Order: sequence, then C-alpha cells, then structure tokens
Amino acid sequence: MNMTDEIRELLRAVIHPESGENIVDAGIVESIAADREKITVALLFAKSRDPFAASIKRQVQGAITQLVPEMADRITVLIKEAAPRKNTETQPKRSDASRIAHVVAVASGKGGVGKSTVTANLALALAAAGYRVGILDADIYGPSQPKMFGVEGYMPDAVETEGGEFMVPAQSRGISLMSIGFFIKPSDALIWRGPMATNALKQMIHQTRWGVLDFLLIDLPPGTGDVHLSVLQELKLSGAVIVSTPQQVALADVVRGIAMFRAPKIEVPVLGIVENMAWFTPAELPDNRYYIFGREGARKLGEETGLELLGQIPIIHSVMDGGERGVPAAAVDAAVEKHYRAIADRIVDKLRKEC
Ligand code: ADP
Repeated sequence: MNMTDEIRELLRAVIHPESGENIVDAGIVESIAADREKITVALLFAKSRDPFAASIKRQVQGAITQLVPEMADRITVLIKEAAPRKNTETQPKRSDASRIAHVVAVASGKGGVGKSTVTANLALALAAAGYRVGILDADIYGPSQPKMFGVEGYMPDAVETEGGEFMVPAQSRGISLMSIGFFIKPSDALIWRGPMATNALKQMIHQTRWGVLDFLLIDLPPGTGDVHLSVLQELKLSGAVIVSTPQQVALADVVRGIAMFRAPKIEVPVLGIVENMAWFTPAELPDNRYYIFGREGARKLGEETGLELLGQIPIIHSVMDGGERGVPAAAVDAAVEKHYRAIADRIVDKLRKEC
C-alpha cells in the first residue's frame, strides 16, 4: 500500500459526529497528497463553519502524526467549505436530551445585565442542593460560560454510544457544560447568525452526551431571535427565568421576552424574575444599601406581568471577580451562595407546582 492509501485507510477511523459516517466515505476527505517531503490533506465540509471541523482536523493531524511521527512538522490539514449539499436532510437521531428532567431557559432583554453570571451561579446552587445540572451556553453574541467555569479552549471529544455519536460536555465543579463558545472564536460571533447558529445549536442540544440531568439551564442570547425560537422548537422547556437590572426591568425588551415565552402554542411558564445588581453595599457601611440602578423596577414589572420576584442579588465584588477567575462566586463566597440558594429553592418549588 502506498502512503496515500495508507492515510486514507487510517482516516476511516475518524467519524463525523453529526452523520455518524467516517470522513472518507462521507466525502469529507477531498484529497490526500503525500510524498517524502510533505503530507497535505484537504477536508471539504458540506456546510460552512461545520462545528466539528476543528475537532476533525485535529483528529486527522493526530492520526497521521502517529503513523509518521518523523514528518510531524510537515503535515498540513486544510479545511474547505462547500455550498450545502442538495440533500442535507440527516437521519433522525436519538437525542440524549430526553434524559433531562427540567430544561430551564435563562433570558434577558439586554446584554450585560448578568444573565450568564446568574446562570452559572444558579447552576452551582442547584448542584449544591444535590441536583445533577448541566448548562447549555447558547449565547452566540458572548458565550461566557467557558470563561466563567475556567474551561476556555475545551474541545469536545466525540464518543460512540448505542444511540450514535455524541459530544462530551466539559465538566467543571460538577456541572456538565456545552457552549457555542467551544466552536467559535469571539471575533467570529457576529457572523454566527441565522441558520448557522441554529444548526450548531440543534447539534449541541441533541448530540451532547448530557447523561441523566435534573436541570439543564440554557443561557440564551439577550433579546428574542432565531436562537430562542430553535431552543423552543427543539426542547420542551419547563420554565424560563428572566434576569434584569432594576434599571432595565421595565424596558420593552424584557416585556417582549416574557411575551415570547407566553405566546400561544409556546406557553412556557415564566417562573419569575431575578433582579441583579439590585443595590450596592460598601464594605465599610455594611448596613447601607445604595440603589444605584433604581428601586421599584422589579416590583412594578411584577405587578404588570404577574411575575414573581425570585430574588435580588446586590452588586458584589466577588461575583465579578469570580467570573473573571473562572470560579463562579456561589462556589466560594457564602454571602453570594445564600442569595442563589434561595432563588434555586424557589425555582425548584415552582417547578414542582407547575409539573
Ligand atoms: P450578560 O450575560 O447579561 O451579558 P454577564 O453575566 O456577562 O452579563 O455580566 C456582565 C458583567 O457584570 C460581568 O463582568 C459580571 O462579572 C458582572 N456582574 C454580573 N452580576 C454582578 C453582580 N451581582 N455583582 C457584580 N458584578 C456583576
């Protein structure tokens, strides 16, 4: 067997997680050029920005390096993208999401109100209460869960199970985490709109090996859009939690977000609102509360929409610091944990009544 054939045979062991086919038979290996000087493999993906392209490239590079370690620095793997194939209908796959008891979306009207921070800390509070918890970070505009859990740069591996190929979520502090951030560079986030984002998201929902979970929290992008719709289509949500600062609370975006969940045929119960950055207490004046962003917002919104205030979280330095250091504050700061434990209890309680 010449080297080209040998490499082709070797690459039959690399499987594309979405189709379950090996990359040679699936036509992804477009060309192999190998001589004593260098090896070049071109991979052609049917869809642009295939979320598995990077991990497949890595596997190809690794497999060839193992075959000819002496050529390690002369192996090039190119990724090409073709126009979508005529028939892109994939076989219906068994989804691991069916083993999740409660899917809860965390939404906000605007960015920067602390939705991702609340998601991360709430997940930890639920885990601390003994529940099995996962997070699906679907915030295409700013996937921040990898950083918050200290797993930036994680590349999900694919595993073969009875139900097909699945991606392995990252594990951090007992939470299973899958993030759109594992597949895109922050600088590319803006082009990830529309079908590209929703396709990747569907794969992340159904082809992540979630295992048995009590709660999957979904960190949604701010506002309302394609990603929200596809989450609502693909998963049966037990409820949604709205995060807002007091200042943002009564804005149209928040009201629109609530209306989206409550729309006919969607009818996802909105469990309530978490008011974040509700006040500030300086360390030297522990009994003082400064309502920097206003005071009555959440209560007023509650009156208008019938929503319960699930909890208020003040501005706390450790919350911001934890997000930066990759350790959500609820894991290490009892003062923060207390707030989130109360919110988690309320959510569990509401879900028990809803279901
Ligand atoms: P979003 O997901 O809504 O865009 P983030 O969760 O990324 O918002 O939070 C925005 C910024 O605010 C982050 O730097 C985060 O650390 C900080 N932050 C969020 N909540 C608090 C809080 N209660 N106290 C202090 N800083 C906070």
